[in-house]
Amino acid sequence: MQTVLFHSTIFGPIHSRRLGVSLGINLMPNDGKICSFDCLYCEAGFNAQGPGKDGIASRNGVKHQLKEKLEQMLAEGRSLDVITFSGNGEPTLHPNFKEIVHDVLMLRDRYYPQAKVSVLSNATMAGRPKVAEALKTVDNNILKLDSAVAMTMRTINRPQSPNVLPEGVIADLKQFAGQCIVQTMMLRGEWEGKHFDNTTDAEVEALIKAYREIAPREIMLYSLDRKTPAENLVKIEHDELQAIGDRIAAATGIPVQVN
Ligand code: SF4
Repeated sequence: MQTVLFHSTIFGPIHSRRLGVSLGINLMPNDGKICSFDCLYCEAGFNAQGPGKDGIASRNGVKHQLKEKLEQMLAEGRSLDVITFSGNGEPTLHPNFKEIVHDVLMLRDRYYPQAKVSVLSNATMAGRPKVAEALKTVDNNILKLDSAVAMTMRTINRPQSPNVLPEGVIADLKQFAGQCIVQTMMLRGEWEGKHFDNTTDAEVEALIKAYREIAPREIMLYSLDRKTPAENLVKIEHDELQAIGDRIAAATGIPVQVN
């Protein structure tokens, strides 16, 4: 099993193909993973590795460490495009997510006012008012929808709750009224003897219907980039990804970014 955890609350800056020079914030433990999904492709590995012993980041700890890092970067004359919530699991599971977002926006304004603040979220908590309010305040509210077909979504993302289904996620995403970016990992493969593929005509048509309903300001399609905890996953090569992106853009009128 591949497990590449982020071993600090503030990590990077790293160069992200999607986001530019990005400083990461990991609100989940530094020695384990906590997520409401358990995606076959998760770069942090499977949830089975456990949550570790360190516990989740504290609000004050995040504020203090981010302030120190931004001061250091500024002193070194380094540039910064984006501060990104991601890391060892789902950031919106943090009970103080809203307060932490507030602190991060305040520090961004003080030290790197031109930098964006992004959240990479699996959207399972987007129906909670406090989480939704926080997500509406960031520059890039990037929410995952890998399939609009229940069986495929449940195979790829393996939600911990049996209640997480595409219809519910789509309904939650509609509330953002365009103030969101929907991110979709395109992939095919085999898991526990079952074949899955979210690039088929039927899958892409279901996604197009979902994107139309959600009406995000942008769609991000991406494919596998690193080792994955599950074996037998197939990377969708750029030409195929681009063709799917072109089809989605033509059908929805929504800009599609292909990475
Ligand atoms: S939602 Fe993100 S953090 Fe959670 S399992 Fe999937 S890829 Fe990993």
